[in-house]
Amino acid sequence: MERTLVIIKPDGMERNIIGDVIKRFESADLRIVGLKMIKADLSLMKKHYPDSMIPILGEKSVKAGAKVKDVNKQGKRVLGWLRKFMMSSPVVAMVLQGENAVKKVRQIVGSTDPSEADVGTIRADYSNDSIAVANAENRTVRNIVHASGSLDEAKKEISIWFKDNEIFG
Ligand code: GDP
Repeated sequence: MERTLVIIKPDGMERNIIGDVIKRFESADLRIVGLKMIKADLSLMKKHYPDSMIPILGEKSVKAGAKVKDVNKQGKRVLGWLRKFMMSSPVVAMVLQGENAVKKVRQIVGSTDPSEADVGTIRADYSNDSIAVANAENRTVRNIVHASGSLDEAKKEISIWFKDNEIFG
């Protein structure tokens, strides 16, 4: 049994699809063991999206075709857009539990860039955005949900968003 963290981001909240998103996880035999609506502040955002992500975010821009002179500088810009966007409205955070939960949830969510995500994934089905367009408009790519990328990341992220006594597994 694994646990992983999912956050319905402000664009998912705006689209009014909390129920649809949850349904996809429940249909895949994943169980909600923690659930809350929360408006994140900068301190929470700095823990969830730490400065150490800067090179990874810069590389994603390069991969999406951005002409970038300084990868770290680009990563820093993306991180700024991302934190700001995530604080722009309440979000729904949930802990999902099940066999192989981390990988399963990532498969249901799809890849970071909705224009590259497989048909049938949440990001492909609910977002028409792309990293290239988002970069050109100086904003984060709107891809509906966040999902932990690895078991280690899941453990860390769950402890950032949930106290032990808020999880009922
Ligand atoms: P995830 O694990 O698939 O969410 O991807 P990351 O953890 O690498 O990035 C966090 C979030 O930052 C993504 O979900 C996107 O919303 C956004 N993002 C990542 N890379 C880029 C980029 O190159 N450009 C823009 N505009 N947004 C990005």
